[in-house]
Amino acid sequence: MNEMPNVEILNVSKRYGNIVALDNVSLKINDKEYVCIIGPSGSGKSTLLKIIAGIIKPTEGSVIIDGVRVDDIPLSERGIGVVMQDILLFPNMNVRDNVSFPPLVKGLDYGTVKSIVSEIIRDLSLVTLAERYPDELSRGSQQKVAIARAVASGARLILMDEPMGSLDTRSSRILRYELRSLIKDLGLTAIHV
Ligand code: ADP
Repeated sequence: MNEMPNVEILNVSKRYGNIVALDNVSLKINDKEYVCIIGPSGSGKSTLLKIIAGIIKPTEGSVIIDGVRVDDIPLSERGIGVVMQDILLFPNMNVRDNVSFPPLVKGLDYGTVKSIVSEIIRDLSLVTLAERYPDELSRGSQQKVAIARAVASGARLILMDEPMGSLDTRSSRILRYELRSLIKDLGLTAIHV
């Protein structure tokens, strides 16, 4: 296999004063891989994800995405979809409008947005919830919508920080399965803490 790695983390360290959050981490994630990062609380998983996203800067080391060193490129220009633990859906918009928002803001025409959004909503089994508002959804469904919105943004790399943290085992297993097939179908790369 000589595919170009989609994400390359090179000797990344992050220190907060005396606290070492990450110590010289190097990792290659290939295009279309679905990678899970596991480890005990406090082991630096979120820190690593935030460094890849560009939310925080490493003390040392570099992040390379699709062959480009992105150390000085902000989150908004990295083409990454991020799903964090605290779900931030627009409360005044229904599910379909929440998911449609990023591609519309990017300037895609309405017809294209409609078909992209319908496909994502179908693949994540959100069809019956499409007209509901966030406060009418379970926590698990809200998480799915946040993921659908990240996928709809057109990002080829999706970062998820414990998106199933608050789900019971069964719901989380189902969501993981749906998510994996969606990411595979769309040919995306995902990093999941
Ligand atoms: P995980 O996601 O694996 O639970 P984190 O990446 O959140 O771990 O944290 C790694 C370490 O860095 C922990 O010891 C945490 O207390 C510390 N840390 C994270 N963010 C900060 C911060 N803003 N200031 C100081 N210490 C931090």
